Amino acid sequence: MSKQQGRHFLNIPGPSPVPDRVLRAMDMPVIDHRSAEFAELGKQVFEGCQKIFKTKGPVIVFPSSGTGAWEAAIVNTLSPGDKVLMVETGHFATLWQQMAKRWGLDVEFLPGDWRHGASPTEIEEKLRGDKSHAIKAVMVVHNETSTGVTSRVGEIRAALDRVDHPALLLVDTISSLGSVDFKHDEWKVDVTVSCSQKGFMLPPGLGFNAVSDKARAASKTNKMPRSYWDWEEMLKPNANGFFPYTPATNLLYGLKEAISMMLEEGLDNVFARHKRLAAATRAAVTHWGLEVLCQEPEEYSPVLTAVLMPPGHNADEFRKVTLEKYNISLGSGLSKVAGKVFRIGHLGECNELTLLGALSGVEMGMTAAGVPHRAGGVDAAMKSLEDADKSNAPTH
Ligand code: PLP
Repeated sequence: MSKQQGRHFLNIPGPSPVPDRVLRAMDMPVIDHRSAEFAELGKQVFEGCQKIFKTKGPVIVFPSSGTGAWEAAIVNTLSPGDKVLMVETGHFATLWQQMAKRWGLDVEFLPGDWRHGASPTEIEEKLRGDKSHAIKAVMVVHNETSTGVTSRVGEIRAALDRVDHPALLLVDTISSLGSVDFKHDEWKVDVTVSCSQKGFMLPPGLGFNAVSDKARAASKTNKMPRSYWDWEEMLKPNANGFFPYTPATNLLYGLKEAISMMLEEGLDNVFARHKRLAAATRAAVTHWGLEVLCQEPEEYSPVLTAVLMPPGHNADEFRKVTLEKYNISLGSGLSKVAGKVFRIGHLGECNELTLLGALSGVEMGMTAAGVPHRAGGVDAAMKSLEDADKSNAPTH
């Protein structure tokens, strides 16, 4: 725990800082979850979620982390032995793949270099070769939080359509939803998996599945055992604003408020803000003479930037010094890139000045930790933000 005065800078890519407005909304007595008052709250959050997921279909809210929502997507749609196509975009895609294998799925895991998103072309080729339609689902991570790479889900959908393949499309939007544009209905995604502690600006504790008609139909005949995660068990009481078991009542108060905040700002403005902040972060990183892990400009994440350390320098030692001296938490490198990268989160309740504060922490931390860099990255970020302001157009 840091002994620094002042507010801690939580610049990991989730959990993201919780706005005061959301904290205040949750500061309520717990109410009876079988009451009419609760039903009103339940209905409001289900409707609000549909706007954020851009769907007319149901959004199921579990009292869980994102990992639970991953499991719910699998056990409600697939059967043991089913073949699924997944892509190694990074640490989280690898973990979801491990879970799929534990559930007895036959996973084809397309290898990746952790610097690119899931390739729509490669997915199309695999599906074109699958004449017997053995592949039952394509499962991708929209924003790979371990690498700062955002896959092009709209193009992946188009690839499925081009080869007229009936596979379900399951997408992890755990670190993208509410920060990066995502269109559940328009992209015909069958299950969109998400959770509360990133773009929704809430504490951890809620997992989401947005569900298409096709996914719901699959859930009527699939063979995976489940009980707690069963969609139909949820959807029956959800129709009247209720849950089959005790819901995370106070997180739902927060969810209602967070959705209001996003809609007041306007979703397009929220997405443009994240792109602007990401561009400014990359301007700083490039100026410092460091390298952004993502190698495909089209796939730069608006939510976080993963930065490669110069050779001979350990990212975790640098993060430790930065935390101790400047009271800022930066994301660590995970598994394959442990020690080699650090991640700057710029999602949720983040604006120009909070970003500049965080980037100042990174720059001063590099000096303190003896990491070679060219001073002036924060100025480069300011210039990027000023230019974006002048052109008033989203910068990629
Ligand atoms: N998927 C992605 C893309 C994530 O970023 C995370 C967590 O950071 C997870 C899945 C796992 O979610 P949770 O830690 O909430 O279980």
